[in-house]
Amino acid sequence: MAQQVTQLYYKKKFIRKSLEPFLVGIEPITSKFVRNRLIVLYAHLYPEGDVPLDREDIKRNLKYLSDECQVLPLPEALDILSNDWDLPHRAVAIIVDDATQAFFQVGRKLLSDAGLPYTLAVIPGLIRSKGKEHLLARLMRIAGHSYWLSNQEMLERVLEWFGDTEHQETVSFDTVFSKASKLSELDLTRLLDHVRALDHDFMTWEELKELKSQDEVHFASHTMSHPQLRHASGAWLDWELSRSKAMLEKNLGVTVNTLVFPYGNPKNLTLEVHQALDRHGYKNSFFTEKGAVGPDTMRYSMPRLPLEDEFWRLRIHSCPAICSILYPGPKQGRVRSLGHQKYLSI
Ligand SMILES: [Zn+2]
Repeated sequence: MAQQVTQLYYKKKFIRKSLEPFLVGIEPITSKFVRNRLIVLYAHLYPEGDVPLDREDIKRNLKYLSDECQVLPLPEALDILSNDWDLPHRAVAIIVDDATQAFFQVGRKLLSDAGLPYTLAVIPGLIRSKGKEHLLARLMRIAGHSYWLSNQEMLERVLEWFGDTEHQETVSFDTVFSKASKLSELDLTRLLDHVRALDHDFMTWEELKELKSQDEVHFASHTMSHPQLRHASGAWLDWELSRSKAMLEKNLGVTVNTLVFPYGNPKNLTLEVHQALDRHGYKNSFFTEKGAVGPDTMRYSMPRLPLEDEFWRLRIHSCPAICSILYPGPKQGRVRSLGHQKYLSI
């Protein structure tokens, strides 16, 4: 079965790759019949790390975007859509996720060498700083790390530390947040050791300020702790959305009204998350679903496509008319029920 799926994947990839010159070639005709849309690309830009492309591949992609597309600052592009004005041909905006040290050391220079504006999605709680909030964010980050340990196992470890082994079946990450918020810094540090919470290097506030003064960059919130937001509700959800926005605005002197969903899965936009986005003044949020953004796209369900992708696929994806045909959603959202949870469908 797995072998069949792999074969099908390579077959589809071969067909699309072979069709690339044709699809890009017919774009001028197709675009006469399909409304022009915005392509939003996401990247992490760790060229030496987790992506299959090397630095030269990424430079080639960036050069293509610089030479053959119109890369706009994200706020400007969204303004054009809100006002229903015409977008330029092949309008693209770039969002870089996570703001890691690897991006600061390497990826940032690739973008500035190509002269491209971008929006940086920052996780303020994970930026190293003194005080409880940073420790709390490192703890709540476990609500996103299901690939490292299962959620249930992580919750059990926390409860074990609290000496509460009776409620393992009913415990949620909300309970963890509420219990952990009351701990001292010393106890939080002990709890982090107990659950073996990960600790990575993200950019510092000083580095973010340096970036702001030198690059054509805007900022978005990527939450406080990078969790799967579908696990969040109540006080914890409010903290993830409101504190991340407030910290960015205060420390960098900017206005933040965009959220980039950690892990990019649309299931994270629960009804409660939708209401909290509204309440905390967010105007836009992005997933990593494939598609192009138009005036009719729901602003809390905007799709993004990978910048760190094979060159032929990036060329297809950066033709909005072709992209709209290949990936017709998402459009206006409506609430549908999925079991006991309500999600906004796209
Ligand atoms: Zn992320």
